Amino acid sequence: MTQNSKKRFGLLGRNISYSFSKGHFTTKFEKEKYQGYTYENFDIQEINVFPEIIQNTEYLKGLNVTIPYKEDVIPFLDKLSKKAKKIGAVNTIKITKKGKLKGYNTDYFGFLKSLKPLLKSHHKKALILGTGGASKGVAFALEELGIEYQFVSRNASEKAIDYSQLNSDVFKEYQIIINSTPIGTSPNITSCPDIPYELFTEQHIAYDLIYNPAETQFLKNAKERGAQIKNGLDMLIFQAEKAWEIWNK
Ligand code: NAP
Repeated sequence: MTQNSKKRFGLLGRNISYSFSKGHFTTKFEKEKYQGYTYENFDIQEINVFPEIIQNTEYLKGLNVTIPYKEDVIPFLDKLSKKAKKIGAVNTIKITKKGKLKGYNTDYFGFLKSLKPLLKSHHKKALILGTGGASKGVAFALEELGIEYQFVSRNASEKAIDYSQLNSDVFKEYQIIINSTPIGTSPNITSCPDIPYELFTEQHIAYDLIYNPAETQFLKNAKERGAQIKNGLDMLIFQAEKAWEIWNK
């Protein structure tokens, strides 16, 4: 396919020179011959600069949004998709022909699509480690899949238990464990969430949203006990594909 009109896309975030998205879309545009299409990083130190980017960037059609702006960007948008509104986080923005900004959440979709093929009939309940932005999309996806979930946080609250409450009864009941914390991300590759890894069995799925390294310490420990493991790379690719679909529809 050859496309000739000029269209710009980008990633909004802070300290994002590592960005997966820029490489992903730049390669896509080259491979699929989208002439005039470019993808760039909008690396900003604070969200208040966002309106200037929108005003000053001609031909901008779409943005991905990453840490730490998935929630902070919402007040700057004209409209939210129903799902983004429910999740409370935006990782994709479409700029309409009239210049309006609409926010979507495709993280939830990426997570759902990557988890679904692993599910067996006994996978009925999940533990979500961490209560940050990403955990909200994970919880929403689990709801759509009909899987009950429990948040685990460093601080117990009405909506979360804490790590000291994880015991064999909990591991028997919850056979999907999702790391939705940044612990174990490169370069801190020997760190892992503080959970009783000896309680993992072959019945468990250990899912890590982290994709760098490909096999985190969390996944290594779970794998040693026979658990099925999955990292966050497919989620990342699927959320990017969905964003592309949204920008082009
Ligand atoms: P975040 O807001 O920085 O942190 C998530 C939660 O992790 C925090 O709210 C906190 O929960 C817990 N946490 C943070 N530091 C911790 C520590 N030192 N020890 C224990 N718990 C800690 O991150 P996020 O935006 O939700 O993202 C979470 C991870 O998912 C990141 O690694 C991110 O890169 C990854 N991610 C991957 C994809 C993908 O497509 N694969 C998409 C989105 C995000 P409590 O305070 O409740 O303990």
